[in-house]
Amino acid sequence: MSALDIQNVRKDFGDERVLKDVSISIDSGQFLILVGPSGCGKSTLMNAIAGLEPVTSGNISIDGEDVTWRTPAERDIAMVFQSYALYPSMTVRQNISFGLEMRKVPKAEREAAVERVADLLQIFPLLERKPAQLSGGQRQRVAMGRALAREPKVYLFDEPLSNLDAKLRVDMRTEIKKLHQRLGTTIVYVTHDQVEAMTLADCIAVMRDGHILQLGSPEEVYNNPVDMFVAGFMGSPS
Ligand code: ADP
Ligand code: MG
Repeated sequence: MSALDIQNVRKDFGDERVLKDVSISIDSGQFLILVGPSGCGKSTLMNAIAGLEPVTSGNISIDGEDVTWRTPAERDIAMVFQSYALYPSMTVRQNISFGLEMRKVPKAEREAAVERVADLLQIFPLLERKPAQLSGGQRQRVAMGRALAREPKVYLFDEPLSNLDAKLRVDMRTEIKKLHQRLGTTIVYVTHDQVEAMTLADCIAVMRDGHILQLGSPEEVYNNPVDMFVAGFMGSPS
């Protein structure tokens, strides 16, 4: 059974068909990287998986359960998006634990979860601070911590590192890879950084103009691109 199964998903915005029959199936524990040029529909697909945008047609299943018409809260997912909005009036601790509180997780469990992610992301010294007292990179870690406080079936990351400077991006990339190895969770991750794609992915989906052009291992996609576009995009040797 697939951890995430996307079947023939279409999404129209008015007259524009932004997702044209997208089908992707990934196994539990896989790290799927989604790449493609700006405007090709990556975020729209992520929002559809998250339930933030209803699909026009098609189906989405998580762990064998059809979630197509469920709200985001009813899907077993956690997400980190590019604009990692933290609640400004809450401390880091409260930011991390808020989502659990909303899900009626008991206090002792919430506290244990905060400890666990603080340890994982090395943010113990930041727990009592407010977002305004954090650097961009620290905020990013907290946003990540908020997602990791839960242990959902699927994590969605939409360009989570794109607002960070180069050095921090490399550090975070290494950290995300370690997290994935340690937790063995299923991840869908959007990036426009080819190095990030090649180092993190078990599986790469190359998207263009609302279609998935190729889905395969990093080696397959890099060495045997299906067309000139994929070759050019992945920087494959000619
Ligand atoms: P990507 O993340 O790959 O850069 P997006 O999924 O954000 O691309 O956008 C794909 C297309 O869908 C773009 O043409 C964009 O203008 C359009 N689009 C995205 N969201 C909306 C929306 N809420 N309403 C109308 N058009 C949208
Ligand atoms: Mg996007």
